[in-house]
Amino acid sequence: MSISITPSDRLFVLTGAGISAESGLPTFRASDGLWAGYNVEEICTPEALRRNPALVWDFYSKRRSDCAKVAPNPAHIALAELEAQLPGRFFLCTQNVDDLHERAGSKNLVHMHGELAKSRCERECGRPPVEDHAVYASLDQVGRCPCGGRLRPHIVFFGEIPLEMPRIEREIAASTLMLVVGTSGSVYPAANFVHWARQAGARTVYIGPEPPFNATAFTHIVEGKAGEVLPGLFHVES
Ligand code: NAD
Repeated sequence: MSISITPSDRLFVLTGAGISAESGLPTFRASDGLWAGYNVEEICTPEALRRNPALVWDFYSKRRSDCAKVAPNPAHIALAELEAQLPGRFFLCTQNVDDLHERAGSKNLVHMHGELAKSRCERECGRPPVEDHAVYASLDQVGRCPCGGRLRPHIVFFGEIPLEMPRIEREIAASTLMLVVGTSGSVYPAANFVHWARQAGARTVYIGPEPPFNATAFTHIVEGKAGEVLPGLFHVES
């Protein structure tokens, strides 16, 4: 199967945990909603951060350490190569907090659910997030903001508002082709992007080993692992 990208197409790509699965990072839904042994819905919340910041930092420190050990896979690389062929016509929105897209060479991307390698003030004092690759062994080691607040992971917890939504909405409205890779279609608002794209008249393609929950909104479903299916799927017309 080959999907054409014409000279007038603009591509919007949404990725989820599935694209990093072949790199060795577990998805969220794998093993009954546990993410690496933790119940994410209990840990990744503002309440958990208030109640037990040590547990939240323990979880994200382990994720940082896992992420440092893995490398981008052929799906991340194929997207970076597609971007290079579509200057000014490619936008990538990832739900992932890992940095595998950047390490594969992607440039025009947003992390709507935050980034593992950054921290920010837990008091939300207004200072921007800072780069932070540290793996903390205990809460005492976690740094402080100049305002005195403890740093928290720069992650959008359940119940918090995703980042960069106005830009994402503009990009979806302008796109003519949406590609969604490795996301179960169960976390909102990302699960709605395909509906917004369809309303704007775009073709919509899903890649993953099984149909997502929002499968009926896609014009094409390509079943398979992203690293096997994505490279070579698109033909860029000149
Ligand atoms: P999800 O776990 O709900 O869904 C993962 C999807 O990936 C499933 O539909 C599954 O069929 C598919 N999949 C599994 N292996 C695949 C492969 N090889 N190729 C393509 N698809 C594959 O994940 P989600 O929809 O992204 O939502 C969970 C949330 O958890 C996200 O918001 C994300 O921020 C977070 N998360 C991030 C990471 C990461 O950064 N690597 C990992 C786990 C969870």
